[in-house]
Amino acid sequence: MKRDTTIIEAGRRPEWTQGIVNPPVYRASTCIFERYQDLRDGVKDPDAGLFYGRRGTPTHWALREAITELEGGAGTWLYPSGMAAVAGAILACVRTGDHILVTDSVYEPTRFLCQGMLRDFGIETTFYDPEIGAGIEALFQENTRLVITESPGSLTLEVQDLPAISKVAHAHDALVLLDNTWATPLHMRAFDLGVDISVHAATKYIVGHSDVMLGTATANARAWPKLKHGATQMGHTASPDDVWLALRGLRTLPVRLKQHEASALKIAQWLQEREDVDQVLHPALPTAPGHDLFKRDFSGACGLFSFTLNRGSYDTIDAFVDDMRLFKIGFSWGGFESLILPTDPARVRSATKWQAPGPLLRLHVGLEDPDDLIDDLAKAFDRYNRLLNA
Ligand SMILES: *Cc1c(COP(=O)(O)O)cnc(C)c1O
Repeated sequence: MKRDTTIIEAGRRPEWTQGIVNPPVYRASTCIFERYQDLRDGVKDPDAGLFYGRRGTPTHWALREAITELEGGAGTWLYPSGMAAVAGAILACVRTGDHILVTDSVYEPTRFLCQGMLRDFGIETTFYDPEIGAGIEALFQENTRLVITESPGSLTLEVQDLPAISKVAHAHDALVLLDNTWATPLHMRAFDLGVDISVHAATKYIVGHSDVMLGTATANARAWPKLKHGATQMGHTASPDDVWLALRGLRTLPVRLKQHEASALKIAQWLQEREDVDQVLHPALPTAPGHDLFKRDFSGACGLFSFTLNRGSYDTIDAFVDDMRLFKIGFSWGGFESLILPTDPARVRSATKWQAPGPLLRLHVGLEDPDDLIDDLAKAFDRYNRLLNA
């Protein structure tokens, strides 16, 4: 079956819902055991049924099972944010004295974790060129235990050769973690490409309505015991209300994503034709770097991409973004609304050098009519060019 079909039924078990389509929101801390022997049995296998609120309720089980089904892994844990999922998954895999390899295009807060807490714990990070492919072999050390990938990368959208990287990592007995948020569970089969742990900021497209923080991490059979032990030892859990909203969002993900994808492509093509645009960083464009890998490994795109201007600076960019009617200035993405974010990748690069003649703008293309969004952008270009020409 196609994933558009699987997503309708994934995680829906009548024994968890008594026949209702969606599971209720189970708010729980204590679960009562009838007899002391029942508690003893529970301790032996706390995930066999209700045990304690932190370990999850049928609301959580439904989302965990749904994501596992879609991703194709052995199990999924839920976290209170996407960043908590990234941090929880990393900390479950490394210990003092280990070395990790992290893509230079990684989500900025993930970089800060590596340069902050992980360094303080005695875990050393080497950042690598996202387009390194099998060349990553040269960066392996005896103590390299984990490779962190993100494809396409945050802000600059480089596509990574995940099968090549995974092959080298496994030859060195290291695990591969992928921040898979951009592709959603629909557009990439991470485990088929050799990834061991696939992380999603469910905050983005899975929830899809800009009103919940939530993260998921799914592991293959090799990494699942590690991931789960890490999550339960650190006490990671998510609010059942938020999980319920994620389940609600999940069912419409395919139709929303189709619209985000189509509108974003239309806008990317429009931008590409403009003389005041330097580069459009959207892997689904045939001219984009990494397009061949994108075609090989992904089944679709989403509404998030970037472009660079061919003149001006981050000091003049206010004239572009300040008075937009539909594109709002803000972090995050994946909701129904369009967003724009000027941000300089050069600030956070260490293994590669970022160069562009003008500022970079990241767009999240929402569900508005794309022609209205193009009109909004055209007016922003006019304001920007008027300022620079004055
Ligand atoms: C937003 C984001 C995260 C973090 O998710 P939050 O839910 O905001 O903590 C992680 N990775 C990527 C690629 C993201 O875009």
